[in-house]
Amino acid sequence: MSLTLSNSREWMERAQDWMPGGVNSPVRAYKAVGGTPPWIKRGKGAYIWDEDENQYIDYVGSWGPMIVGHAHPEVVEAIQQTAALGTSYGAPTSNEVRIAQKINEFFPSIEMVRLVNSGTEATMSAIRLARAATKRDKIIKFSGCYHGHADSFLIAAGSGAMTFGVPSSPGVTSGTAADTLLAEYNDLEGVKELFAQNASQIAAVIIEPIPGNMGLIAPADGFLQGLRTLTEQEGALLIFDEVMTGFRVAPGGAQELCGVEPDLTTLGKVIGGGLPVGAYGGKRKWMELIAPSGPVYQAGTLSGNPLAVAAGMKTLELLQRDGFYEGLEAQCQKLEEGLRGNLKELDLPLQINRFGSMICLFFSEQPVVDFATAKQTDTKAFATYFQLMLEQGIFLPASQFEALFVSASHSDEDIARTVEANKKALAQVFQK
Ligand SMILES: *Cc1c(COP(=O)(O)O)cnc(C)c1O
Repeated sequence: MSLTLSNSREWMERAQDWMPGGVNSPVRAYKAVGGTPPWIKRGKGAYIWDEDENQYIDYVGSWGPMIVGHAHPEVVEAIQQTAALGTSYGAPTSNEVRIAQKINEFFPSIEMVRLVNSGTEATMSAIRLARAATKRDKIIKFSGCYHGHADSFLIAAGSGAMTFGVPSSPGVTSGTAADTLLAEYNDLEGVKELFAQNASQIAAVIIEPIPGNMGLIAPADGFLQGLRTLTEQEGALLIFDEVMTGFRVAPGGAQELCGVEPDLTTLGKVIGGGLPVGAYGGKRKWMELIAPSGPVYQAGTLSGNPLAVAAGMKTLELLQRDGFYEGLEAQCQKLEEGLRGNLKELDLPLQINRFGSMICLFFSEQPVVDFATAKQTDTKAFATYFQLMLEQGIFLPASQFEALFVSASHSDEDIARTVEANKKALAQVFQK
């Protein structure tokens, strides 16, 4: 089977004149895998269709949000009904209270919440709050963890143990970079050293408790618990960035799965049900520092936007229906088992990591446990594999360093077709 992408190619060419790289978010341009990205026209359930009417089984799910599938009739209805009443007032609406309560049902650690418009805004605001709460400037982040595109987070891993970050994007000042300290995921000793070298200067440790932005990686036994104890001892806040893992690895995110309670949590993706939303929240004593109840300024013209809240609220309601997570887990298990079966049959020692409805196939023969091992994956083989899957109508994240997102609308047949395509693609990549 081969794919005709002529309409997509035309749009991509036209787009180059009007948007940097032809896109509004870099990974959509397919730089890591090559070829023309399909331009998407519509979606329904587990499927999306491109401008050439090719149909795909979608495992991108808008990079996480579409956990109930595309254009779910109840979500669409909620958005339509809300839109008919007006789309934004710049004044409080009752649904904002309902969703705040709803978020607390999933995340008991979020006693109070502030809605924003993206995950980036959520993490950016959470560290401002942590800095204000502790009267300290520095933060610790982990190499390979992504927290959106705010300046403080665009700090890459350098070689060796780094005391001062180096900006990994032009435009980030060295002053900002210097306030972001880098640690290695799963290396508690390294974090202890940073605290020792920067006594009473660290406001917060921010982490993807289960990282999904360097591929999907598991926390080592005791690592998150160790961070909890350490931050408490040192008077720093622990921030779990659950923009991706929230509602995904477990209903209550990684904090539920791992039994570790952070001071602050950031959310996004799923809570917007496909519309732009982010949120940060946590213990009341911290959140009361936010304006207007406290002095830490943070605002937003469209924050708590009625449409986004309606879509998010309906999505969270669907997640709470009987059997939702059991059904989703069953499909994800089938997918994992199918992929593992293929690896066994083809005698390929590749790695599969899965938590809930996130699953990642690493082109690596050794376990992937941190940024260093993630970087050793064979990204060339991944790119070839990616194209072979796309040709067979399977839409995967266009990067080795992203997880697949499964939705509740992926049927047995979709999973079977995916496993079959995977076998063919792997056999071709590795010439088996
Ligand atoms: C996607 C993501 C963000 C950024 O969210 P945006 O809505 O893209 O700004 C932050 N943190 C994590 C863990 C993410 O996966």
